[in-house]
Amino acid sequence: MKKFGKGIASFLGPKIFRSVHDLLHDMADYILPRHCLICGRRLSSAEEFVCSVCFLYKPFNPLFHDNRDNYLSKLFYGAIPIEKAQAIMRFRPNTDMANIIYSLKYNNNPDVGVFLGRVAAKILSDSNFFDGIDYIVPMPLTKKRRSWRGYNQCERIANGVSEVTGIPINTHCVSRMSFHCSQTHLDYIQRQDNVQNNFKASNTSALEGKHILIIDDIVTTGATVKSCGREIARVVPNIRISVLAMGFASAL
Ligand SMILES: [Zn+2]
Repeated sequence: MKKFGKGIASFLGPKIFRSVHDLLHDMADYILPRHCLICGRRLSSAEEFVCSVCFLYKPFNPLFHDNRDNYLSKLFYGAIPIEKAQAIMRFRPNTDMANIIYSLKYNNNPDVGVFLGRVAAKILSDSNFFDGIDYIVPMPLTKKRRSWRGYNQCERIANGVSEVTGIPINTHCVSRMSFHCSQTHLDYIQRQDNVQNNFKASNTSALEGKHILIIDDIVTTGATVKSCGREIARVVPNIRISVLAMGFASAL
């Protein structure tokens, strides 16, 4: 009898739990409706961040056919030991697609990062983009910026990528210092130098001879990723580096 009761409980338990979970989820959607980050349409309870109609148009795709030789990877030639580089959307300010990144960076919506990371990992896995990569290194934020935002959006993207690929995340090997002075009155070269001296590699013993994937949200000129990668490569000369951006903002 006891065994029978236990059997019923194990049979009904997950179902009951799922029903209650679904009911709460539907109630939350009714009270606080969620909307598609691309088109603004109200989401159904089964949809997450982007509606199924927008997904039909495949808004996220590998931006380049070749993971190694492309406009993004070329930004890093001769500056860091670059292996592969990819992005999953072309970023243009004030577009529907840009809303996704704005939501992640400025609307206190860290789960969007995890969502984007999962999407990127799924669509790039087919091209073997993640093969041979030992660690994911999200671009660090300064303490001040992290405190202001409440989270590092690149870490959230890394969480999603790691969840799908199983590649571990290393957030301890490089940190980012605050600027000692405002950049406003500096010329282009001075700004580059200011950015370049802004990263500090440490606790890098685990990275010796490894292949890391630096993750950033948007890459424009590549100067920040280059500075970060250069600092890591300065301390770990035999490192190999790949780069994954959610958006590439170059006009090319
Ligand atoms: Zn939509």
